[in-house]
Amino acid sequence: MQSKYIIANWKQNPKTLVEAKKLLEITKDFNDEQGKKENKKYKLEIAHAVPSIFAGVLAAESKEIFVQDIFWAEDGAYTGKYGAAQAKSAGIYMSLVGHSETRESKQNKKGYTNEEIAQKLENLSKNKMWACLCVGEEVRNKNYKQALKMQITKSLEKTKAADLKNICLAYEPVWAIGSAAKRAATTAEIVESIDAIKDILKELYPSKDDKITKNTITLYGGSVDKDNILEILALPNVGGLLIGRASSDAKKWKGILDKVLKSK
Ligand code: PGA
Repeated sequence: MQSKYIIANWKQNPKTLVEAKKLLEITKDFNDEQGKKENKKYKLEIAHAVPSIFAGVLAAESKEIFVQDIFWAEDGAYTGKYGAAQAKSAGIYMSLVGHSETRESKQNKKGYTNEEIAQKLENLSKNKMWACLCVGEEVRNKNYKQALKMQITKSLEKTKAADLKNICLAYEPVWAIGSAAKRAATTAEIVESIDAIKDILKELYPSKDDKITKNTITLYGGSVDKDNILEILALPNVGGLLIGRASSDAKKWKGILDKVLKSK
């Protein structure tokens, strides 16, 4: 049985802590059902990237709570920010980093740069925390692999080979993410892009039998829903999924988990 990882990225949802707890209950029910089921195809490991205002409270109820970002400085005069050490002291051991909604781009000139993302990864690593580094091209054209290479190389500039074991990479093409997305990436596009990511990692972290790269978990994210989840999850180089919109809507989230539970 294969393990696959799902990170539910709630973004700025739901509106209340009560609703947030209900979403976690759906996951808990799924985990109980999954535990009972025999001959299952996948063992899903599910975590939730939640709004930071809820994170400390929810972390007291579930170990699998991510924050959606941290700030690059550890502490200081930065109103509204918090760093890796502060998240850890509130019981959080994992953070998304470099999500496209937080990155510097044409639309978001004040977003974080690759250099700041590299610093965040270093801070998480110093605090022995787990990170999910999101990368992805803004437009799919013949240069997309170069865009990925630049992003990954710069973002991992401060990450040593030994620290890569605490980082997973999520391939999140910007054009496939969120309410402005036209469509999810096709399975062929996902396979090709994740292979490209693994090749970039191989170059950055050469190792015997490519052990380091093989052990790095690679996720896909962008317009995943109950209709496409099974075919994407089945791709051999996809270690799991980062799910946005469909993960903070109770009905859709339950629909997704039911689909996996019933998969043969
Ligand atoms: P989406 O978002 O599933 O709503 O497309 C994915 C993400 O932003 O992580």
